[in-house]
Amino acid sequence: VNTVFRSTRTSVFETMSRLAAEHGAINLGQGFPEGIEATEVIEAAGRALRDGPHQYPPTLGLPALRQAVAAANRRFWNIEADWATEVLVTSGATEALADCFFGLLEPGDEVLVFQPAYDCYGVLLRRAGAVPVPIRLEPPHWELPRQRILDAITPRTRAILLNTPMNPNGKIFSLDELGFLAGLLDRHDLIAICDEVYEHLTFDGRAHVPLYTMPEAQGRCLRIGSAGKTFSVTGWKVGYVTAPAALLEPVARAHQYLTFATPPHLQAAVAFGLGLDESYFQGLQATLQHNRDQLAGGLRELGFSVLDCGATYFLCVETGEFDRDGDDFAFCRRLVAESGVAAVPVSSFYAERDMTSLIRLCFAKRLPLLHQALERLADWR
Ligand code: PMP
Ligand code: GLN
Repeated sequence: VNTVFRSTRTSVFETMSRLAAEHGAINLGQGFPEGIEATEVIEAAGRALRDGPHQYPPTLGLPALRQAVAAANRRFWNIEADWATEVLVTSGATEALADCFFGLLEPGDEVLVFQPAYDCYGVLLRRAGAVPVPIRLEPPHWELPRQRILDAITPRTRAILLNTPMNPNGKIFSLDELGFLAGLLDRHDLIAICDEVYEHLTFDGRAHVPLYTMPEAQGRCLRIGSAGKTFSVTGWKVGYVTAPAALLEPVARAHQYLTFATPPHLQAAVAFGLGLDESYFQGLQATLQHNRDQLAGGLRELGFSVLDCGATYFLCVETGEFDRDGDDFAFCRRLVAESGVAAVPVSSFYAERDMTSLIRLCFAKRLPLLHQALERLADWR
């Protein structure tokens, strides 16, 4: 086993989903939607699967999807990108991240990674030869620790990996925080790899702002999106990268040798989806916001302390008095077995797997399922 993978285990998401199945539990662990899938986009995929094309699409992606990504960039974020040279389609955001790391980083390059961090970041960075430099954000507000960032920058620092809106804590980086990061890019000659898969899943009128749009970040940002999140079809694994041509070109080279291409019928359906009118995107936000409120309200009534969540699929909840061992992983194992509700321990988002007093619950579900989970938790408590 390659040394990087020697230190890994089965992903926490897979582990908790398996445990959920074993215990017949309601699975609020792994982040996937249930009951809110974009049916019109799924129907478009059905038509494309019937009508084709079925052979290799262009490695950069179907022109229709690259044009749709460029149009969505303009419509939602006021970003002007040339579809032919500044947009790449990938097999999920995960592949997009790998392409960025493999295409842009040299062995020994240091990359600032904000923790808690999505699990593939550290592993893929290290496999690419880069050195992830963790910068911890602290609950409950997860503010940007500016001095710690300044202290962490060295002559080897090459990139900042930014996930906003952020998994698992639902944080949306503020304009002020983005301004600070944008200033660093220019001053220290860095690039930013921006994982924005939750770009459309923001609540309470809070706005997501791509770092890409900050004047000082011009020419230094890559922006990653995922149809899995935008259309609630996480199994599809269709992602896209937008970046200035000079940054996108090396990423496309890596993509060419990793997957080469992405299933064309899914690409065609996603192109259709990105063209849906405003009501689709607003409806998705409203549904998720309502679900968040229902789950958070119910948990608070049960005595749980729930952290603020401005975006994504996820609530972070304090285990508090319910955690006997000070071990969030053990707590999640006990919770799924005893209550029949699966969650994810937030420690799995830290490289050192430091135990936290937080678990993550996914609210991208049918309301009755969330209510049933609350009933189970009430009986368990
Ligand atoms: N980044 C983050 C922050 C995520 O939560 C996920 C979740 N799936 C991904 C990337 C991966 O997206 P995809 O399924 O499109 O590979
Ligand atoms: N991104 C999803 C989550 O945070 C999981 C994706 C996966 O299972 N690899 O739950």
